[in-house]
Amino acid sequence: MATCCMTSGVALSARFAGKKVVARRSVPAATVRRGATVTAAAAAPATAARKFNFSAGPAMLPLDVLEECKEDMINYKGTGMSVMEMSHRGKDFMKIASEAEADLRELVGIPDNYKVLFLQGGASSQFAAIPMNLAPKGGVADFITTGAWGVKAIAEAKKYMDVNEAATSKASNFSTIPDASEWKLTPGAKFVHICSNETIGGVEFKDIPDTGDVPLVADMSSNYLSKPIDVKRFGLIYGGVQKNIGPAGMAIIIVREDLIGETNPVCPTMFDYKLMADNESMYNTPPCWTMYTSGLVFKKLLKMGGLEAVEKANQAKAKMLYDTIDGSDGYYVSPVDPKYRSLMNVPFTLGGGADLEKKFLKEADALGLESLKGHRSVGGARASIYNAMPVEGVQALVDFMTEFKASN
Ligand code: PMP
Repeated sequence: MATCCMTSGVALSARFAGKKVVARRSVPAATVRRGATVTAAAAAPATAARKFNFSAGPAMLPLDVLEECKEDMINYKGTGMSVMEMSHRGKDFMKIASEAEADLRELVGIPDNYKVLFLQGGASSQFAAIPMNLAPKGGVADFITTGAWGVKAIAEAKKYMDVNEAATSKASNFSTIPDASEWKLTPGAKFVHICSNETIGGVEFKDIPDTGDVPLVADMSSNYLSKPIDVKRFGLIYGGVQKNIGPAGMAIIIVREDLIGETNPVCPTMFDYKLMADNESMYNTPPCWTMYTSGLVFKKLLKMGGLEAVEKANQAKAKMLYDTIDGSDGYYVSPVDPKYRSLMNVPFTLGGGADLEKKFLKEADALGLESLKGHRSVGGARASIYNAMPVEGVQALVDFMTEFKASN
């Protein structure tokens, strides 16, 4: 694979110029200058080879956060060691952990009657932990299935309780969200589960459904912290961090405290939310490095102006991409119901068929537009444009799409 200098506008333009594309903007050299702790000169060699990574996750991290990690890597703030090496019970790490939680609480506006858990095992572990904690004696949970991750969640829950698929958009190949008026909810259900953003299909809830007294549970793995969250409308929110927040290795769970305390007798100790909450997510060794890095991201998002500002930036980026698709006269096709198009994951196909798609992906890859291939289960292309994808990355992609259309 050809490497591409994405931090130099000149080099990017030159590469695009060879393909008759001129990138309209130079790319994140400015980000290097903004880096608080290193000089541009020191950062240049490593950052010069960075690509725009459109992967669904793990995904791009903010360059200034990576720079700060680099600065702290060998000797964290004069402690004489890396965060990766220090005791999780020592005062330095305890400070990192408590600041991370406090900053997340401030960023999201998490009410005091909600616990925040930083747990290993990713979002997939929560597919099991949620029924074991929220339905300790079994019962029924309702699931709204709008994509592949919802299918996985329901399959796992079924091992621990009864499940009711209250609505599914399978008939449309998961390209929409069934209208709430059609949901066949169970009176007295233990919870209602949704996936707020289906990463593979690119389908995103735009409103929080009203489930009355039944706790609403949402898998926010792929749109966590991409926009404001009205936490009190949910019983439990969960998601892996490796898309919008930090390096892989952790899920963040926000759970109303009255919902936890008892578990299914088969619940592993490590999945017991109450135990983890009572031990501030440190019953055992926590994912220290991921907590630290995620904490830097929380601080960055607060500095950016919070989740309203983050949402605005995400809306602008997504609009650039959807406008390019919609304005292409069918050259590029979005399979998703326009009402529910995700701001984070933008799947699209090429009307011209599979061979053209292959050529598109190959040329994009050669330009340093990384991991645009659609999920293996659906094919086509998919651009994941999480919080840390700079607007310049989306601009480079839409420039390439326009040029590719003109010459193919
Ligand atoms: N839910 C969604 C919506 C996801 O996108 C993913 C990961 N792609 C998962 C759950 C599973 O996450 P993890 O790999 O952290 O278990």
